Amino acid sequence: MSIFKTRAVVLKVQDFKENDKIIWLFSEKLGKISCIVRGAKTKRSKFASFTQQFCYGEYVLFKGKSFYTVNEIELIDSFQSFLNNFDSITYGSYFCELIIIALQEQESNRILFEEFIKTFYLLKSDALDVETIARTFEVKLLKYTGFEINFNRCAICNTKIESSNSFSTQFYGGICNNCKDISAIPLSKAAFNYLRFFNNMPMENIHRIKLSYEVKEEINSILNLLICQSFSRRPKSLDIFNYLNKEHSCYEVK
Ligand SMILES: [Zn+2]
Repeated sequence: MSIFKTRAVVLKVQDFKENDKIIWLFSEKLGKISCIVRGAKTKRSKFASFTQQFCYGEYVLFKGKSFYTVNEIELIDSFQSFLNNFDSITYGSYFCELIIIALQEQESNRILFEEFIKTFYLLKSDALDVETIARTFEVKLLKYTGFEINFNRCAICNTKIESSNSFSTQFYGGICNNCKDISAIPLSKAAFNYLRFFNNMPMENIHRIKLSYEVKEEINSILNLLICQSFSRRPKSLDIFNYLNKEHSCYEVK
């Protein structure tokens, strides 16, 4: 039996048998793993309040023959304040779902783990535009899972480019003026430059960014396509955002 100690966040929780829970963790050392927490459903369990979605802590895990069992949890931040705010619970759940669909089991990804934790603290701070946080996290997720967007060279002919007004989701990058791709999406230079900024700058630098509604829409539709085509399945959370967007535009029309 092996013992591991690692920082981790609870992505998803499910009841298991009469008294136990299964939690899916995004951990620093072991990547995405599922673990059994014995007795977590009973009220007197010391783990009951630490096995909620979003809980971030130091976890001591035993690896048995076929699964991990949680032995100790030292809480760092429960992030349960997300539950008091519609935006933070919706986006917090979305970020967890992205990790679930983007990573293989037990595939360590420490850089992405750090970005994920920073994203949670930015969301908790409530000081930044939540959509800007989400778009930045999506760009980082693509970058650190092998789907980095190419901002420096034409995605078709590899010529150096400063900027671009046409984007190929098939080739993950901007296209130069000489290349034509009928499936490419037109985009403004501002949208291209913000995407590049999200890709290259640390998460904590995005507080300086204020995106217009139009640029947000452009960036959103490109990242939506990239996220849906890159990972194991389309995130279900996107349906909620699309529904809310429709509600919003209906409201504006009235
Ligand atoms: Zn080209």
